[in-house]
Amino acid sequence: MEQTLSIIKPDAVAKGVIGKIIDRFESNGLKVAAMKRLQLSRYDAGKFYAVHKDRPFFGELVEFMVSGPIVAMVLEGENAVGKNRELMGATNPKEAKPGTIRADFAESIDANAVHGSDSLENAHIEINFFFAQREII
Ligand code: ADP
Ligand code: MG
Repeated sequence: MEQTLSIIKPDAVAKGVIGKIIDRFESNGLKVAAMKRLQLSRYDAGKFYAVHKDRPFFGELVEFMVSGPIVAMVLEGENAVGKNRELMGATNPKEAKPGTIRADFAESIDANAVHGSDSLENAHIEINFFFAQREII
């Protein structure tokens, strides 16, 4: 059993596809172990994406992530980190395989509907960023 962090980004929340995206997880063996809707501050968005702080798109990424509410979730299941990445599709929705979340719900590489942890180690760090242990059931 693994746990991973998923975020439904502001574009997908604004579009009203929270339920459709969660259905992808639940229909593919991932359970929602914790969930909250919130709006990030610039400080927190910068901290969450600190690994990208030297990339040219960092400023836009932070502005986008604070532009509206998001839904953060802990997903749990066998191979949850890899399975979530597979369901998400490639970072650029134009390169994402048909049937993936990004292919179906995302418009562009910056507004790409979802975030997912890229390793078990980062999953642990990212889950702790959003959730207290008592919120994960
Ligand atoms: P992923 O979300 O697939 O793990 P990365 O970790 O590489 O992708 O990048 C984090 C986020 O930064 C992406 O989801 C996307 O929103 C944004 N991003 C990545 N590359 C670009 C880019 N070239 N231009 C604009 N935004 C980008
Ligand atoms: Mg990433």
